Amino acid sequence: MHIQTLAYRPADGPVDEAAERYGRDPAAVVEILRELQQERGRLTGALIQEVARALRLPAARVHGIATFYSMLAGEAPPTRTIRICDGPACILRGAGPLLGKLPTRPDQNWTITRTSCLGLCDLAPAALVRDEQVGPVTLDRIDSSIGRWCGEVSDYRQPRPGETRVLLPDPGAAGFEDGARSALVPQARAGWAWQNVLAHTPEAVLAEVEASGLRGRGGAGFPAGRKWRLVAQELRTPKYVVANADESEPLSFKDRVLLDLRPDLVLQGMAIAAYAVGAAAGYVYIRGEYAAQAERLGAAIDQARRDGNLGRRIAGTEFSFDVHVHRGAGAYICGEETALLESLEGRRGEPRLRPPFPTSSGYRGQPTAICNVETFAAVPQILARGAAWYRSIGDVQTPGTKLYTVLGDVVRPGLFEAPYGITLRQIIEDFGGGLRPGSTFRFALTGGAAGALAPPSLLDVPIDYESAAEGVCLGSGGFLICDQSVSPVKILRELLHFFEMESCGKCTPCRIGTREACRILDRFVAGAGTAQDLERLAGLARLLQTTSLCGLGASAAKPIQSALTHFRECFA
Ligand code: SF4
Repeated sequence: MHIQTLAYRPADGPVDEAAERYGRDPAAVVEILRELQQERGRLTGALIQEVARALRLPAARVHGIATFYSMLAGEAPPTRTIRICDGPACILRGAGPLLGKLPTRPDQNWTITRTSCLGLCDLAPAALVRDEQVGPVTLDRIDSSIGRWCGEVSDYRQPRPGETRVLLPDPGAAGFEDGARSALVPQARAGWAWQNVLAHTPEAVLAEVEASGLRGRGGAGFPAGRKWRLVAQELRTPKYVVANADESEPLSFKDRVLLDLRPDLVLQGMAIAAYAVGAAAGYVYIRGEYAAQAERLGAAIDQARRDGNLGRRIAGTEFSFDVHVHRGAGAYICGEETALLESLEGRRGEPRLRPPFPTSSGYRGQPTAICNVETFAAVPQILARGAAWYRSIGDVQTPGTKLYTVLGDVVRPGLFEAPYGITLRQIIEDFGGGLRPGSTFRFALTGGAAGALAPPSLLDVPIDYESAAEGVCLGSGGFLICDQSVSPVKILRELLHFFEMESCGKCTPCRIGTREACRILDRFVAGAGTAQDLERLAGLARLLQTTSLCGLGASAAKPIQSALTHFRECFA
């Protein structure tokens, strides 16, 4: 038997201070790790142990968290890291060759890595330099970006012809100045109409949102009013409102633009939801790559507190509500609502088994109304102008407007707002400015990576949440238009590569299935695929769809199945 002497080891002062600042709350572990990573350059094993000690958590748990999130797991200091996006829009604009050439550059003080879609598709090929959003990045511009060149700024203040704007600001609205950077100045103080809202009972607010037919904008289209009612009916308190701003679906950057331009609308929508369901606290879970948007949101919250629109006893009533911003740390799966809640509680972002659903057991096991930021942003207008007005916009099944992104081989890629029910042809011709000169439409990736490849025969299908059954997905509203030069098999391989990288690994079909499907597609891209590979790919898609624990694995099947249906001849 060995007698071991336990030596006293004093606490690491700054680690202890950081833990104390967060009340030694284990839910703050990601924030604390991020702060320390910024200060010390990277997270060492010893540092992770110190954080575990300060938060009184098992070191294995903190290590598991630090290695789960891509923005924490890096070996190099984030201040010396360039992360090049390899999302489909960036790949189409040359991110692949860029990634191949950059690591050979002489300046070895910078680490160059790949990263999944950054939500900067309108700046493709895009990158994060330090924490800053940069694009389009080219070989000759990389030095300028290190020298704080921030790239171009997409300006969405002016609507495109044919847009219907409910969420995005009117062009002449106060609060916007001239100049490229001012395109990002939010309309932070616009119209909190508390007197109007608080004049109604919570039940009346719920009834109005239900009557409006508002559906969730995250991709599933679940009726928002029904979700809120389920939370309102719960007797347990406290209740919470959570805004999902973990926008990581490739081709989607609508939440980024919304948070740039109208953070006030998102906050108002959350506050109205809180009033309707009886919540006193709300969280915005924003993806780690959206540092600038988190800052703007924080400024809008501070302003709302100063104006008395958030905080205790709002407008002299008994209603109190406040919002906190929680930054993610790089994990696509945290867009799945139960994974997001796990992450918000300071754990690895792995999906929970359902039921119970978040409406009864969400944040910290309490009733929680969790919706996409775009869903919340629609609510103030519904309350101000009425459910009947909202129902008069768009189609009967899905009223209101949606933020869409159109990318790829169109003249004017970018973002626009329009009602539901528009077709691919309208997206390309009316909002995308038509195909680029010399381009012929070959296919579109519809609804993001978790969507479907649509051939020319589906150009006139009206798109909403139900059109997936006809082969055109809406998802979160991202559309990649591809001409004759783009191979459906190559795009499919990029998508499966994305799913392989972003699988959380909790269940075997997804962890192994996405990897296996990606290897098969590698062979087809190299011209070495076989008939057995094709059968195996179809079988893997069925397996992913039927046995995956959460939507990520199941949705990886969708692009495979659509490619096999419409482009089987390309697998040769
Ligand atoms: Fe994780 Fe994939 Fe399983 Fe979802 S399907 S729990 S992402 S391994």
